Amino acid sequence: MLEIKNLHVKIESKEILHGINLTIPDGEVHALLGSNGSGKTTLMMTIMGYPEYEVTKGEIIINGNDILDLDITERAKLGIGISQQKPPTIKGVKLRQILDFFIESNSKRKEYIDIMVEKFNMDKFLDRDINSGLSCGEIKRSELFQVMVSLPKFLMLDEPDSGIDPEQLAIIGGVINECLRIKDHRGPTIKRNTSLIITHLGNILDYVHVDCAHLLLDGSIRCNGNAMIMLNQIKKAGYEYCIRCQKLTQDNFEKEELKC
Ligand code: ADP
Ligand code: MG
Repeated sequence: MLEIKNLHVKIESKEILHGINLTIPDGEVHALLGSNGSGKTTLMMTIMGYPEYEVTKGEIIINGNDILDLDITERAKLGIGISQQKPPTIKGVKLRQILDFFIESNSKRKEYIDIMVEKFNMDKFLDRDINSGLSCGEIKRSELFQVMVSLPKFLMLDEPDSGIDPEQLAIIGGVINECLRIKDHRGPTIKRNTSLIITHLGNILDYVHVDCAHLLLDGSIRCNGNAMIMLNQIKKAGYEYCIRCQKLTQDNFEKEELKC
């Protein structure tokens, strides 16, 4: 579903991403790990199409089509959805207005939205300006709620586990897991929503199973593999371990082409 080839991205004339290659097949959930400042948010915002992230080289392909010429609205219409690490407060727009917009465009969504309002415990925030006066955990919950009700086909979550306490994390983790499951109309099989979950500490992965993880360091993907194995090493020895790990020297990485 998503294929990124040799992606180079600049912000304000400084190159942040140096040739990213990443593939997420349809129905898989992948994690993007990496130390602070390694370029995780930059990659997500670039895929979404925020104009300040300048692609100088490479391709972003969704379902076989290069989307680089599409603007952010067109990409959203294709079904790309994000939950931001630091969502903005939007004065003058109530959460209920966004929901009404979704329902106006498709009345069948009302029932689903009502279920989601209950699941995310959003009732008391519906008539407030978006994110205004909410605690950090509440903002995370509201941001996740907003992206989930838009039913994206390709979902990216930027650090859904940062800045929240363990109880909130357990609730959010459970709800994400549930929302990622799409019932397949052909039978009882449960398919998952193609997604990329960005996490620095990996706490969300205690609740959400991922098929594969990618490690981003200094704007380059340096390792692909089993998320739990990678996280165990990182938890023991920090991201410093990854920098020293023999497997991850650029030379070996290119030769080995580690598989999930
Ligand atoms: P991560 O999400 O992995 O912590 P980011 O993608 O936010 O990393 O940032 C990667 C690098 O790009 C950092 O060095 C950061 O300071 C820089 N950066 C991000 N956004 C901007 C911006 N708007 N202007 C200048 N530099 C930026
Ligand atoms: Mg970030």
